[in-house]
Amino acid sequence: MFIDSDKFREECGVMAIYGHPEASTLAYLGLHALQHRGQESAGIASSDGSTIFMHKSMGLVMDIFNEDVLTRLPGNIAIGHNRYSTTGDSAVLNAQPIRVDCNKGMIALAHNGNLVNANDIRSRLERSGSIFQTTSDTEVVVHLIAQSKEQTLPDAISDSLRRLEGAFSLVIMTRDRVFAARDSRGFRPLSMGIIPAANGAKQDTVVFASESCAFDLIGAKFQRDVKPGELIVVGPEGVHSRFFAETKKQSSCIFEHVYFSRPDSEIFGQSVQVSREALGRQLAKEAGIEADIVVPVPDSGVTAALGYAAESGIPFRFGLIRNHYVGRTFIEPEQRVRDFGVKLKLNPVRSLLEGKRVILIDDSIVRGTTSRKIVRMVRDAGAKEIHLRISCPPTVSPCFYGVNTPSKDQLIAANKSIDEIRQYIGADSLAYLSLDGLKEACGEGVKASYCTACYTGIYPTEFVDVHDIKPAPAEVKI
Ligand code: SF4
Repeated sequence: MFIDSDKFREECGVMAIYGHPEASTLAYLGLHALQHRGQESAGIASSDGSTIFMHKSMGLVMDIFNEDVLTRLPGNIAIGHNRYSTTGDSAVLNAQPIRVDCNKGMIALAHNGNLVNANDIRSRLERSGSIFQTTSDTEVVVHLIAQSKEQTLPDAISDSLRRLEGAFSLVIMTRDRVFAARDSRGFRPLSMGIIPAANGAKQDTVVFASESCAFDLIGAKFQRDVKPGELIVVGPEGVHSRFFAETKKQSSCIFEHVYFSRPDSEIFGQSVQVSREALGRQLAKEAGIEADIVVPVPDSGVTAALGYAAESGIPFRFGLIRNHYVGRTFIEPEQRVRDFGVKLKLNPVRSLLEGKRVILIDDSIVRGTTSRKIVRMVRDAGAKEIHLRISCPPTVSPCFYGVNTPSKDQLIAANKSIDEIRQYIGADSLAYLSLDGLKEACGEGVKASYCTACYTGIYPTEFVDVHDIKPAPAEVKI
């Protein structure tokens, strides 16, 4: 059976290394740290200065790469990618990096995000003779670079990026350079780090990663975020920055703070641990209730639950234990077990829950099916009352910027009132964090400005491919 986690799904993770003799190994380690951002496929491309090598496959980073494979990825430059498909089929054909040999030379590219005008660009390119090899939106970027009339590669890349609409954090490599770019609204994170030169090396190693947690394992120090609209070029002449487009109103994905990014990462200028704990504190202020224990739905609810417990003074307890070793499929016994999929992942600690008034903290409710099973599990374990608290507002609209979400008709909060959701889930009470509370906890206007479209339905871009969704004019005219 397929285990549906009933969560928004992470998008992708990217990694780039410039100037290290073990570039592909560092990329592999970085991808391992970013595994939470995509578990369907992974790939690494490397360059020894004369050609670009590549290996990609379906599966987890640790299963795809071994010493033998990494030996076949030599050179001082590498880029890597973890993928959870957001557009295009989940097949190895669509795994990244994408590598081409075109009129601009050999190029490999890895993308986190989702382009909202990819179909439109693709149709135009196909009419003018381009032949596509994948169904992924990312391939249009490569075709645009190849078709650009600009003479230099940085100019051709800038020219191409200006034509894209939507979310992209990109790493691109040639035989002797690495490029890193973020769309002009800065939807998805992308950070730059440095490994200081050692053993007589002349140049520091420059690294890029979707999240700064990837730096720690490879001994890199966080330098800064790649800015919205910025293209950073790293080559023999050093590190150079340019802006390929005017920066638009920043619309960084607030859900990165709520759920996607790891708490040990710093994204959009703020520690995820700090913002996620602040979400829990704010939730306690807005939706406090008398209870005996605060219990997180692990792992995603843990940090917010710590914040909630600290603010409310109610003890934090691990009342649900997560089994981390669950694969994508499992054989169910013939005699059906109720809520089998959830029970594989979570098990209640009866001695903690029995007779208690429990505040259960989770990061979101998508369809509501999993929340209903978890509440039932906690109730069956003897909890006297269950008060479900969600560390973000009701999710009412799908995402088009690189996050896999169900359509609106499947989002429970788009179709039911909060009390109807509570009844469906079977909790004694249900409360969500307010939009203002969410923004404040994530440093809106101080650290960053955020996209909150999945909570408001107000999208920060115009849609070219998705004609039935209209952005709110106030958000678009920047
Ligand atoms: S719609 Fe939601 S998930 Fe998508 S980018 Fe905006 S905040 Fe993030």
